[in-house]
Amino acid sequence: MSAVIGHEAIVRELQSLAASEDPPHALLFAGAEGSGRSLLALEYARLLNCEAAPPSPAGPCGVCRPCRLIAEGAHPDVIHLGPGDTLCRPQPGESSHEKHPDSRDIRICQVRGLIDLVARFPFEARTRMVLIEPADRLGREAAHTILKTLEEPPGHTVFCLVTAAPEVIIETVRSRCRRVDVRLVPPAEIASGLVARGVDPAIAARAAAECRGLPGRAIAFAADPALMGDRDRLRARCSQVAASRVPARLAHAGELAEAWRRDRSVVLRALDAWEAFWEERLRAAAGESGASSAAGPVVALRAVSQARADLQAQVQARPALELMILTFPPVTLEPDPEEELSRYA
Ligand SMILES: [Zn+2]
Ligand SMILES: [Zn+2]
Repeated sequence: MSAVIGHEAIVRELQSLAASEDPPHALLFAGAEGSGRSLLALEYARLLNCEAAPPSPAGPCGVCRPCRLIAEGAHPDVIHLGPGDTLCRPQPGESSHEKHPDSRDIRICQVRGLIDLVARFPFEARTRMVLIEPADRLGREAAHTILKTLEEPPGHTVFCLVTAAPEVIIETVRSRCRRVDVRLVPPAEIASGLVARGVDPAIAARAAAECRGLPGRAIAFAADPALMGDRDRLRARCSQVAASRVPARLAHAGELAEAWRRDRSVVLRALDAWEAFWEERLRAAAGESGASSAAGPVVALRAVSQARADLQAQVQARPALELMILTFPPVTLEPDPEEELSRYA
């Protein structure tokens, strides 16, 4: 069984690429976090390294050593390169090079380390895989430095660039990669994928309905069904925060930043709730006087998508969330009718 839920056409495409005379050495997987984009890249790594002979049209065997190690995230020749220190190699003679475990970009020193690495043979793989994620965090200098390697990659290494924002990657890098667009997956496919993995059918159906087309999120819901179904509670919280002053707003941003460290899905769902909250106000505004009252919700919606992009790009969570919350226009809530009544009781 493939590790990927949905995306049948892409899986077939990867199979035929891997079986071809000259499999592409640089791919760009473009899609949202949770869409299955990195699993697809790993599927390509399995296809290129599976020891079952001849390679089966059903995909990698799933039981040979490379198949198992890749699925477990333990293969020594599958290299993940992201923002941080991985592969950092200071320039020779550079007198002081501070460690940068929390950097938001993939830096040129890391690309130097990567170039050193790919000059050597893999430990045991037929084909080493370098997964660059999120590839939109390649700094400009780093992107230019990686170009030559992408152009003439050594035969034993393939590069998979993974990103939610392909347009941010410089054109010269993009054009050297074969692009794979990883779209949202229909709920029915997600539900049956979850059931095939042993999830209770009722939970699978609910998770599929609430994950907004993202199998990764559906898997998190299936693992912890308590995460689902609290949409009403989240909406009530949005109204409350939107109507409050700066200190209460900042406290909310702080809670979310704290949650981001433990469980990112909690924050992504809070952002969904904020989006729904402002979309509703936008619809209401459109029904009323139009342009002037729509401006606030439009600004707010833009702030939500900016925050989502920042978090994807591994910007520090707290400032990104604070900026979003403080950008929200002030809201006066309609008085709750029951509360009104109780005042006169
Ligand atoms: Zn295999
Ligand atoms: Zn460095």
